[in-house]
Amino acid sequence: MWEKNNTKKVVIIGGGLVGSICACFMAKRGYAVEIYEKRDDIRKTPEIRGRSINLALSHRGRNALKALGLEKEILDSAIPMKGRLLHSKKGKLKSILYDPSFNQCIYSVGRNYLNKKLIDAASSYPNVNIYFNRHLTRANFNEGTVTITDSKTCEESQVNADLFIGADGAYSKLRLAMQQTAQFQYTQLYIEHGYIEMSIPPENGNKMIPNHLHIWPRGKFMMIALPNSDSSWTVTIFMPFDIFENLTTGNEISRFFRETFPDSVDLIGESSILDIFMKNRPSELISIKCSPYHIGSKFLLIGDAAHAMVPFYGQGMNAGFEDCCLLDGILEKNNDDIAMSVEEYSGVRAVDAHAICELAMYNYIEMRDLVNTVGFRWRKCVDNVLFKWFPNKWIPLYNSVSFSSMEYSRCIQNRKWQNKIIYRSIISLGIIIGTLIVLFLKNVLN
Ligand code: FAD
Repeated sequence: MWEKNNTKKVVIIGGGLVGSICACFMAKRGYAVEIYEKRDDIRKTPEIRGRSINLALSHRGRNALKALGLEKEILDSAIPMKGRLLHSKKGKLKSILYDPSFNQCIYSVGRNYLNKKLIDAASSYPNVNIYFNRHLTRANFNEGTVTITDSKTCEESQVNADLFIGADGAYSKLRLAMQQTAQFQYTQLYIEHGYIEMSIPPENGNKMIPNHLHIWPRGKFMMIALPNSDSSWTVTIFMPFDIFENLTTGNEISRFFRETFPDSVDLIGESSILDIFMKNRPSELISIKCSPYHIGSKFLLIGDAAHAMVPFYGQGMNAGFEDCCLLDGILEKNNDDIAMSVEEYSGVRAVDAHAICELAMYNYIEMRDLVNTVGFRWRKCVDNVLFKWFPNKWIPLYNSVSFSSMEYSRCIQNRKWQNKIIYRSIISLGIIIGTLIVLFLKNVLN
């Protein structure tokens, strides 16, 4: 393969999770790959805070890792989460398994650990060169070049390639350049909720029921906790900004936590909560949709650069990894015709990426509110039973998103016909019961 494609050069902008895994796919195809990453080498720098510390890895992400022979190593250090564990205000706990029929689970994996492993994997290919502290500043779509700037010396250089892949995240510079071209569609939405991360230290971590994603659903907002391999838990509170803004003093923060998440206070530690709340502002959450994902025959967006989403379905990285599998498959099908492949990729991916952005928004409501309702639990039971009986026909929404490779847009269609069947069944059942009652009363009264 290296022989086959070694005359073609792929430049990847961004060596984050998606850029580094994409480099592995492209290197495996035999292209000469260069990654330009704005930051320093993550393997040599202390942990970067700001983005979530751990991530939920599920089927689509695992598929990509498996294709590169990395799945086992990553899963060995990940923590399985087989369901949601709900914390009520009164401290009652309730486990809702993701997949009681077939015991499928998602995995909590450290962001930095995963990124380091992927950078290691990319550098292990002889046809990959990684340049750290270099960032894209401009793209010239007519000439087919980009300008890369050395972050330390500010020196600029022009870079040529057969394919430029923008994996430079939600605030992508390549996408920004694309936005200035005709017929490029772009929408962004900052939701009115932000998040703050805290942590349950390892010495308290074993007081948490293991192998679950813990949720404190509180209707308009929620707190969640994901396990780390050192027994600590990363706790994230997602809440409207106006509620954050009203918590200005230590007393207010303490009272809020004691009233809203009472069982979490001793686990996280009151002083730690106060410290984090006083020192940090909540981070923003953005959802981005754009199309097409390509310009001309050699510029393409993937990962968050193409489809940043709110984190509530745990699919941002998984979808980004799936982008790479899909691109690889399309290049394979088209015999490495890059121009044809970027166009085809763009056409098929946008509709599914838009669908997962929508699903991610919906899942916030499910996690923070619906999980508390009888209707949700009843529906989950019906879905589980039908899934067990008809595993290939009745795939519940969560399973289709997290445990299958079904196109995201089809996951939505799937849910729609399932809803129709359930509503029609309820109406039919209502009519039958009503008729029986009328017949019964007629008999009794006659
Ligand atoms: P990024 O991770 O943002 O990486 C972009 C890279 O490009 C960075 O290394 C950056 O330094 C570099 N870069 C930026 N600009 C330039 C430039 N001009 N030139 C060169 N390099 C540049 N996803 C999941 O699947 N599961 C989860 O559980 C999950 N939880 C999340 C929780 C939170 C709170 C958040 C915010 C997100 C979560 N996500 C989750 C989403 C996930 O973090 C992203 O989808 C994923 O990081 C996207 O990877 P990326 O490589 O596309 O972008």
